[in-house]
Amino acid sequence: MSAKKTPGESAREKAVDTAYRTEPIAWKMERPPVIYSPSRLETYRQCPQKFKFTYIDQVPSSLEGIEAFMGSRVHEALYKLYTDLRFCKLTSLEDLLAYYREIWENEWHGDIQIIRDELTPDEYRALGEKCLIDYYRRYAPFDQTRTLGLEHPVQFNLDPDGRYAMKGFIDRLSQPKDGVIWIHDYKTKGFFPTQQDLDQDRQLAYYQMAVQRLWPETKEVELIWHYLIFDQEIRSRRTTDDLEALRQETIALIEEIETTTEFPVKQSALCSWCEYRAICPLFRHLYETASLPKNEYMNEEGVFLVERLAALQIEEVRVKGEIEKVKEALLAYTQKKGVEILFSKTHKVRVKIYENVRFPGRNDPGRPALEKAIKEAGRWEEVSSLDVFALSKVLLSGAWGAELTERLKKLGKPDKSPWIKVFPRDERK
Ligand code: SF4
Repeated sequence: MSAKKTPGESAREKAVDTAYRTEPIAWKMERPPVIYSPSRLETYRQCPQKFKFTYIDQVPSSLEGIEAFMGSRVHEALYKLYTDLRFCKLTSLEDLLAYYREIWENEWHGDIQIIRDELTPDEYRALGEKCLIDYYRRYAPFDQTRTLGLEHPVQFNLDPDGRYAMKGFIDRLSQPKDGVIWIHDYKTKGFFPTQQDLDQDRQLAYYQMAVQRLWPETKEVELIWHYLIFDQEIRSRRTTDDLEALRQETIALIEEIETTTEFPVKQSALCSWCEYRAICPLFRHLYETASLPKNEYMNEEGVFLVERLAALQIEEVRVKGEIEKVKEALLAYTQKKGVEILFSKTHKVRVKIYENVRFPGRNDPGRPALEKAIKEAGRWEEVSSLDVFALSKVLLSGAWGAELTERLKKLGKPDKSPWIKVFPRDERK
């Protein structure tokens, strides 16, 4: 996925997605296909709730992370560079940087978010310039391959019946020699992936499917990511089997999305960049209370309850520590006196020492040997018990199949118990 499209979605893709939702494309079909893009599927994988905000509720948002903003400007500069080359005009590095600075100024808007506040907008702009400088020096005069397409739109059916289709834009398509096509993707992410990460990347694999349909005589397709911040390119290839597995996995995912009515929140590091934080159930309270005056803030019911629970838990920990100390003192006292029960006016305490053997816990390396020995002795049933928490989890995941899940569910009772936990918090979380 291009840096300009992550972690949110580019305005261009959103607009096209929205258009496809309402306007059937002009194919000779009774029912238009359900059309997805790589970023649309990735949004669902990242967080179903964000997918709902974006594509189902279509909540407008003008917020844009500065990383995405910088990525878009770098993409536009490279687009200009290769467009000029089509007309045999080699833009100088100075002119390219001047163009980048100009579009940076022109496109800048008030809803750009800087999440990592250790960097200023000027430093981000300079980072984009460095990406362009490195790229220019590495590839100038850009005559290694013939450019076939820039921001090239593609769309193709995933299934023979044309029920599901994929669409997207390829940053650059090039041809090093006849019969070979390279699919390029520019990244301005500050994270350098492993070869394994990119061998499993889906976006360019979808584009390979599109390219092989558009130009069936193509003998070889290579996927190339340009990690511009690191001045590195990484390449990968996909076999026919890889593409077939991806095609089937994608159809299954689309069918899941099209039939589900549940869009749960999925918290991750990417939440910091999510444009829907202010309406997300995970962060809405933070935004709703942020603008309250100080005296109202502390009296707001939710803020008050959080403070109260946190104070009680601190007290609970202190009291637990004290109880342990008193128990130790009681044990020492009864041993010194040679008695088992101590009395006060209102209560009595019995102190008894039970003999016990402490065995390795569930995650202890010694645990497998212990379990093996008991099983070999044929005594496992006598001491093992069902983990009902694990059972509930596996049933809710549906991993045991519908029939067994339904049969076992009837033997339990539906339950929705709250899980409430206090965390210390930093500024944005
Ligand atoms: S903030 Fe996080 S959990 Fe909430 S919608 Fe966005 S990605 Fe999902």
